Amino acid sequence: MSANKVLTRMARRFVAGETAEEALKVVASLNERGVLASLDLLGENVSSADDAKRCAAEYCSLIAAIASAGLQANVSLKLTMLGLDSSEELCRDNLTAILDIARSKGNMFVRIDMEGSAYTQKTLDVFLALRREYDNLGIVLQAMLKRTQEDLRRILDAGGRVRLCKGAYKEPPALAFQKMYEIQANFLECVNLLFERCELPAIATHDQRLIDETLKLAARRDRAKDSFEFQMLYGLRRDTWYSLSAEGYRFRVYVPFGTHWLPYFTRRLRERKENVLFVLSNLFSR
Ligand SMILES: Cc1cc2nc3c(=O)[nH]c(=O)nc-3n(C[C@H](O)[C@H](O)[C@H](O)COP(=O)(O)OP(=O)(O)OC[C@H]3O[C@@H](n4cnc5c(N)ncnc54)[C@H](O)[C@@H]3O)c2cc1C
Repeated sequence: MSANKVLTRMARRFVAGETAEEALKVVASLNERGVLASLDLLGENVSSADDAKRCAAEYCSLIAAIASAGLQANVSLKLTMLGLDSSEELCRDNLTAILDIARSKGNMFVRIDMEGSAYTQKTLDVFLALRREYDNLGIVLQAMLKRTQEDLRRILDAGGRVRLCKGAYKEPPALAFQKMYEIQANFLECVNLLFERCELPAIATHDQRLIDETLKLAARRDRAKDSFEFQMLYGLRRDTWYSLSAEGYRFRVYVPFGTHWLPYFTRRLRERKENVLFVLSNLFSR
């Protein structure tokens, strides 16, 4: 088998397919079991304005397809796919086009993923500028970054909705906590703030300790089970999606699809050696 074929087969664990049709089928099967989805068209760092426009148009078609299929799903996107590297204005225009379509389709929610620290401030700026006009726009913050609690307060002041995750990018010690226990502690302090001030926060982690502590904090703060949501990545901890959802918690799976899967797939493998072992064992047991 060629190296390319091997990689493609391994990636299929984390990627729902190469086309929107394949991804929508996955979403329909999640919805049947009470689980929500967020669709992510894979890709990052486009280099030309035309490519950025094309990506925005693909997101617009995706939103229309989700709405016409009546699926319980929203979309997640990366600003570098919409031209952030070329100009903030181009990126804002592309995002506005997506938000207008989403608004016309039942005010579908659009979440901006957070990329590496070189983009944190620019991503926040674009979010805060558009958030004034669009209540269907949300953002992601990364607990590994030392600036995150400050950013969180600013976003909460603007009434923004946040997905909290640890952060998938390698960051230097000057900017980011390096030890897992520090990242977990910051994560939980952020959850606490979110439960105090955010209407529908998203807690995105596969880490059982953080899930247990989040459940305790929710109980302590009397948060209803549907007033926040857990989120996990497609391909990881499938049993937990269905068990927490069956217990009445809102649960959303992040479903990436598309042909540009390599950077996303590489980040998943770098995170945990178990991910590598899982894909390798799948590869050779079929
Ligand atoms: C929905 C979603 C959206 C995301 N969006 C972004 C984004 O926009 N930007 C970004 O930078 N990152 C994003 N991420 C990735 C995130 O930042 C982390 O890189 C990734 O989730 C790994 O961290 P973790 O907390 O899930 O657990 P890990 O750090 O991978 O695992 C920590 C511990 O969790 C436990 N654990 C993990 N997996 C299992 C398992 N299968 N069974 C039992 N215990 C387990 C183990 O004790 C493990 O040691 C997102 C993640 C999710 C889930």
